[in-house]
Amino acid sequence: MTSLMNTYARLPVSFVKGSGATVEDSDGNTYLDALTGLAVCGLGHAHPAVAKAVSDQAETLLHTSNLYEMPIQAALAERLTALSGMDRAFFGNSGAEANEAAIKIARLHGQKRGIKSPMVVVTDQSFHGRTMATLTATGNRKAQAGFEPLLNGFVRAPFNDPATVEQIAADNPQIAAVLVEPVQGESGIRIPDDGYLDALRAICDANGWLLMLDEVQTGNGRTGRYFAYQHTGCLPDVVTTAKGLGNGIPIGVCLARGEAAELFQPGHHGSTFGGNFIACAAAHAVLDTIESENLIERAGQLGKRIVDGLGKALRGDNRIKEVRGKGLMIAVELNEPVPGLVNAGLERGILINAIGDTIVRLLPPLNLTDEEADEVVARVSAVIEGQAT
Ligand SMILES: *Cc1c(COP(=O)(O)O)cnc(C)c1O
Repeated sequence: MTSLMNTYARLPVSFVKGSGATVEDSDGNTYLDALTGLAVCGLGHAHPAVAKAVSDQAETLLHTSNLYEMPIQAALAERLTALSGMDRAFFGNSGAEANEAAIKIARLHGQKRGIKSPMVVVTDQSFHGRTMATLTATGNRKAQAGFEPLLNGFVRAPFNDPATVEQIAADNPQIAAVLVEPVQGESGIRIPDDGYLDALRAICDANGWLLMLDEVQTGNGRTGRYFAYQHTGCLPDVVTTAKGLGNGIPIGVCLARGEAAELFQPGHHGSTFGGNFIACAAAHAVLDTIESENLIERAGQLGKRIVDGLGKALRGDNRIKEVRGKGLMIAVELNEPVPGLVNAGLERGILINAIGDTIVRLLPPLNLTDEEADEVVARVSAVIEGQAT
């Protein structure tokens, strides 16, 4: 492991295979995966439809580049624009790349409106990626520290606070767009008030800004709609997604509508690998499966089952501040730091994530059985209760 740059504090376990919601480590121990590689494997591990699509494509043609027509990519763009209400798609390989495309669109939009230094409003506790622009957009000083100079062109507002964005609009004629997560994932499943996105939409409309939603984590059915904004009446101008789209094959996409969809012209942006055959084959299989197995509705039902179950199982423990969720983005927030929860999870055979020792985050697969969902509840509550002092 010493040959790897030291970017991750890795857990001392390595997985060798998986099936559905179960993964097996190199010692033969099995675990229930309530994290899915951070909202990536929404269909679970080794899903047969994805495996077949990827394997068939690998035996046919992996890559030719975006210098040539690719009907499989055009067809994926058509499906994603239909699902999102957008008009056009640009494919990259990750969430950060999808957001980079969005930020570049915002700058073109601002320049076109005569703004010399267009700025994007972003929020506290946001996460948009690790590239320089997306790191600058990210609302986490710890992640940014040491990487100065950060980029120009961002203004920060508190999350879930349209009044401050209104004030920024009044004070700052340089703004071209707002970039926000409909539910903040990395900072601990923070769900804004109903009406937040609609309020941002109204401010964007009043000022000629683009409303850009980062659905890298919330997209692809995870919250109980294909995109999380579809819980509201609000339609953004730009949407990005990545994580769950390829079920583990790297793919990211920036979708846009109206004028925002027409801004990129040849030479403006590109990606060698973006939207190549293998990534598109995987994403088509993911969309096919989400549709044929009704997984969007299922995610909503499972989320309610798990949140209700955890609420019951943990009732009476006064260290619990809140159990919350939007579909299968679920958090248990504690009143006090409880270290060691992730390792306690490994010992009890469940993969979970902890944010700062006070928030347990769950991002389980969209196709859990009811029994597996109940087992997630049982094991997670045992992990938390087992830590009782
Ligand atoms: C994970 C994440 C990203 C970054 O995606 P990468 O694929 O790691 O670049 C961006 N935005 C949100 C909301 C995310 O959850």
